[in-house]
Amino acid sequence: MEKAVDFQSIKVSKPTQEEIAAEYQKLQMEMEDANDKKARLAAVQKWDQLRRRLNTWYAFTGLKFQQDTCNKQYKMDLAYRDELWPKITNLEISMKRRLLKAPFRTDIESQFNQQVTALWEADIMTFEPAIQDDLVLESKLQAEYTELTASAKLLFEGKSYNISEIVKFTQEADRRLRHKSQRVLWNWFAENGEHLDRLFDDLVHLRTNMAKKLGYDNYVGLGYKRMHRIDYNQDDVEQYRAEIRRVVLPLAQSIRERQRKRLNLEKLYSYDELLFDPTGNPKPQGDHDWLIERATKMFDEMGSGMGEFFRLMNSRHLLELKNREGKAPGGFCTDFPSYGLPFIFANFNGTKGDVEVFTHEMGHAFQCYSSRKQPLVDYLWPTLESCEIHSMSLEFLTWPHMEKFFDKEGSRRFCRMHLEQSLLFLLYGSAVDHFQHLIYTQPDASPAQRHTMWLEMERLYLPWRDWDDLTYPAMGGSWQNKLHIYVFPFYYIDYVLAQCCALQFWLKAEKDFDGAIKQYVSLCQRGGQAPFQQLVRSAGLKSPFEKGCLEEVINSIYQYGKIRV
Ligand code: ZN
Repeated sequence: MEKAVDFQSIKVSKPTQEEIAAEYQKLQMEMEDANDKKARLAAVQKWDQLRRRLNTWYAFTGLKFQQDTCNKQYKMDLAYRDELWPKITNLEISMKRRLLKAPFRTDIESQFNQQVTALWEADIMTFEPAIQDDLVLESKLQAEYTELTASAKLLFEGKSYNISEIVKFTQEADRRLRHKSQRVLWNWFAENGEHLDRLFDDLVHLRTNMAKKLGYDNYVGLGYKRMHRIDYNQDDVEQYRAEIRRVVLPLAQSIRERQRKRLNLEKLYSYDELLFDPTGNPKPQGDHDWLIERATKMFDEMGSGMGEFFRLMNSRHLLELKNREGKAPGGFCTDFPSYGLPFIFANFNGTKGDVEVFTHEMGHAFQCYSSRKQPLVDYLWPTLESCEIHSMSLEFLTWPHMEKFFDKEGSRRFCRMHLEQSLLFLLYGSAVDHFQHLIYTQPDASPAQRHTMWLEMERLYLPWRDWDDLTYPAMGGSWQNKLHIYVFPFYYIDYVLAQCCALQFWLKAEKDFDGAIKQYVSLCQRGGQAPFQQLVRSAGLKSPFEKGCLEEVINSIYQYGKIRV
C-alpha cells in the first residue's frame, strides 16, 4: 500500500476566479495547438488534474463546515465556495462542449470509452450561464437547512440532545421513552415548520425556474440529468416503484404484523416502528475506540486489502465518527481526489447504527480508494445508484462478523433486523422518490398541499403507519426530517435500486462467499467506467429494471427461509 498523507496535512488553497480563468485559457490554447491524439489527450489529462484539485477544495470546504456548522470562518469559506462554484461550472461546461466535438470526442472515446462523453452530454444539459445566480442561491438555501437542523436542541428527560442523538431513544425498549422522544423530535419540527416550509417552497420554485430557463417543462427532467441518469428514465423508475408496491407491500405488511406480535402490542404505532425486539434493538457492546478495534479485526479477516485500507483510514485520521455539538447530523463519505483518499463522517449515538457506519460508509470509502487510479476524475465514483451498491452490499457481506460487535444472540437479532429493515426500506425509499415527482410536477402547490401529498405517499407505501397523538407528522410533516428532499433532489430511488442489487449480493454470498466478495471487489475497482445497468451486469447481477428481477430476488429470500410469513 503506497504512502498516504495524514488528514491534518491535507492542504487546499482557496482559488480565485481570475486564477482559474487563466488556467482554463492556458488549457484552451494548448488544446488548440494540439495536432495529434497524444497531444490532445495530454491536454485533457492536464485539465483532469485541475478538476481534481478544485474538487478537493470543494469537498474539503464542505467537510469543514459540516464538522462545525457554528464556525464563522468555515461558514464564510463555504459561502465563498458556493459563490464561486457556478463560475467554475461555467468554465467546465464550455470545456466539455468543446471536447464533445471532433477531433477530441473520438480520441476521448477511444481512450476512455463512451461513458465519459455520456456524462458530459448530461452535464451540458444542466447548465447555462443564465442560471449561475440561481445555483448560488440554491447552495445558500441548502446550507440553511443543514444549519437549522444542526442547531436543534431537543430537551428530553432533563438533558439537551441534537437530532442525531435523540434517535437513540426513539428505539428504546421502554415505550414511554420512545414515544416521548418522538414527541420532542416532532415538536421541534412543528415549531420550525413554517421556516422549513418556506425554505422548501423557495427551493422548489428556484429549481423549477432553473429547469424552465434550460428548456425543461419542470424540474423532473433536469433533476434526472443532474443525477446523471444515463441508461434509464422516469418510466423505468415508475414501473420499478409499481413493482415494489405489488411484490414487497404484502411482505412488508406481514413483517410489521410479526413485529407487533413480537413486541406484544395491541397496535403498532409509528413510535414503535423502530423497535424490532421486545428486549431492545441490539446495541454495540462498546464505545468509539472499542468499535474501531473490532472493525479493524473484521476487515483484517475479510481480506482483499480491506484490513490494510481500514488501518490507513484510521491512522491518517480519515474517520470522524464522534457526535459533537454543532456538528451536522447524518453520515457520509467524501473524498479528496488530488490525494486519492476518502473521508468518513458520522455521528455515533450508541445504537446499532454505529456499526452500520463501518459497513455502509466503508463500502463507499473502499470503492473510492479501489478506483483512485482511474484515469479520469469522472470515473472515480460511479453515479449514485451504483455507489450505493458498494455500501449496501458491504452491509450484507459483513454479516459473518457481526458477533464482533454484538454478542452471539445480538448478532443473530441484528442480521434479522437488517434484512427486515432492508425490505421495508424498499417501500419507504419509493415513497420519498414518488413524493419528489409529485412535488416537482406541481411546483405551485401550497405547503399544506405538499403535506397532504406526503400523507398520500404514506397511505400508498406505508399503509400501516399510524402517528397516534404525534400531530405534526400525522398532518403530513415527517418528510421534513429527510435531508435528501431538501439538499439532494431525486437522490433516493438510488438506494432503492441499490438495495435490490445488495440483496442479490447477499444471496450469492450465502452460497459462495469467496466468489461474491471477488465480484464485489472488482465492481469497486471499476469505479464509474460504465452506467448503472452495465456495472450491475458486470458484477453478475440482474438489473432491478429487468422484468421479474425484483420478484425473483424476493422469492429467493423466501426460499432461503430467512423470512417466515
Ligand atoms: Zn451511502
